[in-house]
Amino acid sequence: MDQGDAIFAGTMAEMTWREVEDAAKDNAVALWAFGVIEQHGLHLPAGTDVYLPSARLRRVKAVLAERGVPSVIVPPFYWGVNFVSAAFPVSFQVRPQIMIELMVDIFASIVRDGFKQTFCVTGHGDALHNKTIIEAIQRGRAETRTDISFLAEDGLLKRLGVELADPRVTPFPSAPSTATFPDIHAGQWETSIMLAICPSLVHQDKLPGIPPVQFSPADLQDWRSAPEIARRKTPMGHVGEPALANPQAGQKDLDAGALAMAEAIIQRRNRISSPSRA
Ligand SMILES: [Zn+2]
Repeated sequence: MDQGDAIFAGTMAEMTWREVEDAAKDNAVALWAFGVIEQHGLHLPAGTDVYLPSARLRRVKAVLAERGVPSVIVPPFYWGVNFVSAAFPVSFQVRPQIMIELMVDIFASIVRDGFKQTFCVTGHGDALHNKTIIEAIQRGRAETRTDISFLAEDGLLKRLGVELADPRVTPFPSAPSTATFPDIHAGQWETSIMLAICPSLVHQDKLPGIPPVQFSPADLQDWRSAPEIARRKTPMGHVGEPALANPQAGQKDLDAGALAMAEAIIQRRNRISSPSRA
């Protein structure tokens, strides 16, 4: 079994209560991934958006440890908000208000355990899913009076219309894309990372025969407008070119992303623990 197909791997679910108590006393930061289960083409498993950020956080945890920053990983959230893939099977849909209430309860649990800083990351590009995360963070911050934020690529935050200086977010630089057309769903990028973290779940035999789906900005807007339109425009389910995927590119992306995320976490941690000494 690949480690990548065990979503509890490296999380608090594998720790004893004493280990968790010690981590909180040690002022560890809490890291929490938010995916969804939805179709990912004919070659990737429906849990891709959960496996990816989970693997990313394990890497972030390792980088933080190298830099002397302790962390814990909260078991991933996987009942997210699905819209675009909703006309396909295996797209579980949760109402935003339910996701918010559940998140607020878990934030309270994390804080009750003694953790003072929580970073949430997403594995799913749906705008409503990510806006829901930010709204829940706002509630969590107000109700727990601790530093909870959305650790996200600046490109995603811009798409969501969120200011980079917003206290609810911790931006990190987006990775430069080499794709000449949108590679956003089960395409080259996601497939490469899945090949790096859990190749046993990728239908590698199918990859060479999967045609590219090259969207214009107008296509993309259309695709995002309604589930039925999305299914009609992409009958196989992917947007991008999965046949170009390779595990080396996936590993490189994971490492670079984890480094950028860890740096953003450390910056915020230093800022919060020593406010305005200047
Ligand atoms: Zn995905």
